[in-house]
Amino acid sequence: MTKSAPLFNRLALIGMGLIGSSIARVARAQGAVREIVATAHSAATRQRVAELGLADQVVESNTAAVAGADLVIVCVPVGACGEVAAEIGPHLAHGATVSDVGSVKGAVLRDMAPHLPPEVHFVPAHPVAGTEHSGPDAGFATLFVGRWCILTPPDGADAAAVERLAAFWRTLGANVETMPAAHHDLVLAITSHLPHLIAYTIVGTADELAEVTRSEVLKFSAGGFRDFTRIAASDPTMWRDVFLANRDAVLEMLGTFNEDLAQLTRAIRRGDGEALFAHFARTRAIRRGIVQIGQDSPAPDFGRPHPDLPVESLPRPYAVSEDG
Ligand code: NAP
Repeated sequence: MTKSAPLFNRLALIGMGLIGSSIARVARAQGAVREIVATAHSAATRQRVAELGLADQVVESNTAAVAGADLVIVCVPVGACGEVAAEIGPHLAHGATVSDVGSVKGAVLRDMAPHLPPEVHFVPAHPVAGTEHSGPDAGFATLFVGRWCILTPPDGADAAAVERLAAFWRTLGANVETMPAAHHDLVLAITSHLPHLIAYTIVGTADELAEVTRSEVLKFSAGGFRDFTRIAASDPTMWRDVFLANRDAVLEMLGTFNEDLAQLTRAIRRGDGEALFAHFARTRAIRRGIVQIGQDSPAPDFGRPHPDLPVESLPRPYAVSEDG
């Protein structure tokens, strides 16, 4: 990433968790803005943001944060976006761009737009990048590199304001795409929301098993369960809000998923190996496609920091000697 001239003068970040703090880190590193003002809900988070030196100013209220800002990004759980918009609406600078990072776009548009004055540019956004960690310590400057940021400007949005925000996200390392909010919500329901729901379900199901089995679930988790536990460790507040806010699209995708699951269930019950093989071959090709377009690494994921750990470093008796 090369440094560019600042695109905005003062960036106000409301919410300094994983996403807000990552934006602060990379916006500063890239010189995307001249100044960063940040705030969060609790005094503890604000203090931590100040200790980490993530912003030029850390202020105590959302209204103080937006004063004089020409870019405001609301980085709070989706369910809190409406109340934040109502709070900051009367305090926004004339001509400011207001955006968010929420994982659902229709509900954010519905909840925020009525509170924003006509002289500001409202351009909702969703950086499709994240981890299962939360809070200001969890953020990092390269989170958005090579990931997509989806903008969902409402009808009649100012094209120059949309392009300026797109340039901002590109400066942060993201690829930018624009689409209607309803389409975003449908696409993300299948690519993100449903996978999270499945992970939350399967980890919960395992937890309900008898005590003795549960300890074995943990012990043998590398058999596939481990990947689900990582997703199911995602922030409960954020994900509660996502499912409440994107209810219709998630229910639609869940209907299709249940039909497909019923088909696979039938194939297993009938011993229909051909159907199972054909299905798994199709899904393997999808995985290869994701790797090919650079959205994941082809390296095997053992869930350990050094998958290429030399065999000599393994504790005996597991180390394999040259003679077998
Ligand atoms: P997070 O780490 O839990 O941080 C949320 C932040 O919002 C915290 O700093 C919290 O303050 C603050 N906050 C909550 N209510 C507030 C209010 N009323 N006024 C001011 N600050 C408030 O969450 P996150 O993962 O960064 O997620 C933030 C948004 O990004 C969500 O809308 C989520 O859908 C979206 N998103 C998340 C991911 C992901 O993978 N995590 C990816 C893409 C988009 P306190 O710390 O003081 O409570």
